[in-house]
Formats: sequence, structure tokens, C-alpha cells
Amino acid sequence: MSTVDEKLEPILAEVLRRNAGEAEFHQAVREVLESLGRVIAKHPDYADNALIERICEPERQIIFRVPWVDDKGRVQINRGFRVQFNSALGPYKGGVRFHPSVNLGIIKFLGFEQIFKNALTGLPIGGGKGGSDFNPRGRSDGEIMRFCQSFMTELHRHLGEHTDVPAGDIGVGAREIGYMFGQYKRLTNRYEAGVLTGKGLAYGGSRARREATGYGATYFVQRMLATKGIELEDKRVVVSGSGNVAIYTMEKILSFGGKVVACSDSGGYVVDESGIDLALVKEIKEVRRGRIAEYVRLKGNGTRYVEQGSIWEVACDIAMPSATQNELTGKDARTLVVNGVLAVGEGANMPSTPDAVRIFQGAGVLFAPGKAANAGGVATSALEMQQNASRDSWTFEQTEQRLAEIMGNIHDRCAETAEEYGASGDYVLGANIVGFVRVAEAMRALGVI
Ligand code: GLU
Repeated sequence: MSTVDEKLEPILAEVLRRNAGEAEFHQAVREVLESLGRVIAKHPDYADNALIERICEPERQIIFRVPWVDDKGRVQINRGFRVQFNSALGPYKGGVRFHPSVNLGIIKFLGFEQIFKNALTGLPIGGGKGGSDFNPRGRSDGEIMRFCQSFMTELHRHLGEHTDVPAGDIGVGAREIGYMFGQYKRLTNRYEAGVLTGKGLAYGGSRARREATGYGATYFVQRMLATKGIELEDKRVVVSGSGNVAIYTMEKILSFGGKVVACSDSGGYVVDESGIDLALVKEIKEVRRGRIAEYVRLKGNGTRYVEQGSIWEVACDIAMPSATQNELTGKDARTLVVNGVLAVGEGANMPSTPDAVRIFQGAGVLFAPGKAANAGGVATSALEMQQNASRDSWTFEQTEQRLAEIMGNIHDRCAETAEEYGASGDYVLGANIVGFVRVAEAMRALGVI
């Protein structure tokens, strides 16, 4: 079991003290600090000038009121956030999440993870994250638009293609990005395509951005399996969630000959032993914006829906948690291990609890942490920024090719670094160290800022 090095303990204690009650942020920081003991043992100068303390402290945190009017004419209030965590490598970059669970601690954990994830891509992007406790479920298109416009009315003053570039996350897809871009354009009187990513193809979006997180996670897992001579073909795969990440993970797994037998949403999970019908999931989720329970009603025979319950009870060779943080517990990990899971690839941000990660690694299961495995989304956002800056638009094939190369590089750098630090196969350690060293090098060069 890894622990935080005694030299780093005071840093963790201070993070816990000054960010009281932010459990997910504590979890994310603790995990990174657990990996850094080995780095400072080898390079003690990385602990100089409060470098690690500075990485744990956001450069800027913005919290604001988001008033909007619902369809009944009532005024509603939500809270908006943008945490601009680290800009050593480039403009703040990271998604915006609309979900009732959003609070400052959640956005800080996501922003913190984003720093290292973005550094891992090797592209010039800093780390940030935003969102709101707005619940989009059951809201009309008009309500969504008015909310997005109000959210952007405040946020726009903090953004810019060289300053801070949001994108989507849970509850924010192409529709919401469109409304936010429209409002940004109107308020600033600038057609600044590079200020948001995940845009529609009609107005400066990148081909393959929609698919990128799920495709990228699958490329990562494929490469990780290949180190052991294992192929994805004919493997039984369980993908939690049924949002953007899950859908395009399933699509890529299918294209590699894998078989997806279960997926889920916050209401429960569906099992289809003949293989999940992805066209039907897309119809339910992308078109109707409905519940996954409808799958069983529409598909019928041979399928089952389990309300609530844990999707990880479904036996599989490969698990791709692609829903949300801490969705896969120690108990789930034990069940997966007993059922013979070979590999776990995190499509979501921090979906496995620390206990679960320890169980997987202790049992020799290949484990790809989210900050490496799901970096394909933000990497392709950086490719979207490149296309916007050069007023160009690439083909799907060209963009996917770049994505595949980036994921291959992330995998190889994590694996080599784990090896170099005496922990072969530990992708958590590899990812944290590669991401940290890239950010730390830039921060050192920029002086005490
Ligand atoms: N929300 C995504 C993530 O967690 C994408 C961020 C982006 O494209 O900026 O990485």
C-alpha cells in the first residue's frame, strides 16, 4: 500500500486543513503526492521553492451566481464555478460540468487532475475546470439555452483563446457548447473560435472530438493489453455510463472485435448477452435524451435491467468505468477480480476509489488511470484549438490518427517512467510522475509566480 512520503506529509496536511470538507479534492491530491515521494528522492530540488505546494493551490477560483428564468416564468438560481488551476504549460483548459452534485471541491479535484492529464498529452495546455450545480435533467431546450447564456454572461470575462478555454463534461455536450459560444460571441463581438472546444462542426468544431475520449481510452487499453500479448478481440467488456465517453468507448471496442455486454446510467444498468445494441443506446441517449431502462423495453428478449445495483457484478474481461467519480468501490473491485477481470481502463475522471485501485494493482490487474486513459478528449480539444488558430479543418482520419499517436505516446511514457522508478506496470505512478515533471519543469523556469 503506498503512502505519502514523510517529506510530503506536511504539504498534504496543509492541503487538507485549508480545503476543509473537500473530500474528492483531498483524494486527488493524496494520490498524486503518493507518487511524488519517489521523484523527490531522486531529484530533491523538485521540492524547492514550495513548488509542490504551489501546484496544489489554484491560481484563481471564480464562484458566481447564475440566475435564469424557467419555462413557468419563475426565477431560478444556480451557482457557477471556474477553477483556473495551473497555466504553466498553456491557457487553462478543461471542461464544464452541469450536475447537481457540483460544488467547489468537485471542481477542484477535476481541475487538479486536469493539470497532469493535460501535461501528459504533451500539448501546450494548462489545467482548469468549471461547472454548475444546475440539473439539466427534464429541462426544456429553451431552459437549457437560457441557463447557458446566463452562465456565460458572467464567465465570458474570465475566458479567451489565450487565457482559458472550456469544453464539455458531464451534462455539457455540443448543444450547450453552442449556446455558450453564441453568447460569448455576442457579448464580446468577437468570432473567437478557439475560446471553447467541443464545438459543432458547423462553426469551428473538430472532427473526431465527440468520439475522442472513448476512442482514446480504448486505444490506451489496447496498447496496455498488447504489453502482455493480449488482444481486445472477443473480450467481454463492461462499460459503465451511457453518455459521450461510454458511447464512443463502446463504438471503438466493437470496432476492435470486443463484445460489450452491459452499460448503465444513474438509474441502473442493462445487460445484453448478445452484445449491447449501440445504435439503440445512441437513439435513447443522444436523440431522445431518455433513460437506459428503455433499452430493455425496446429490445426485449435476452436483456435485463437492474435498477440501482452495481454494474460491476457483471462478469467481464475488461472493465471501462466511464460514468463518474468513485463509482467503482473496493467491493466492486473484489468482485471484478474474483470474476477474472484482466484490465481496467478509466474513461471517467477518478471513477475507482483508492481502495479499488489498490485491489486491482495488488491482484495484478492492468489498471489505466483516468488522467492517462481519458486524455484523448482534451488532447483532441487541443487539436481543435490548432485547427481554429490556423483557420483549418482536418479530416476525420487525420484527426483520429493524431489522437491514436498521442494515446500511444502517453501509454509508452507512463510505462517507461514506471519502469524507470522501479514500479513496472504501475500506470498510476507513471502518469503522475510524467505529468508532474512536465509541469514542474515549466513552473521552475517561470520563477515564483
Ligand atoms: N471534460 C473533459 C476532460 O475531463 C474534456 C476537457 C476538454 O476538452 O477541455 O478531460
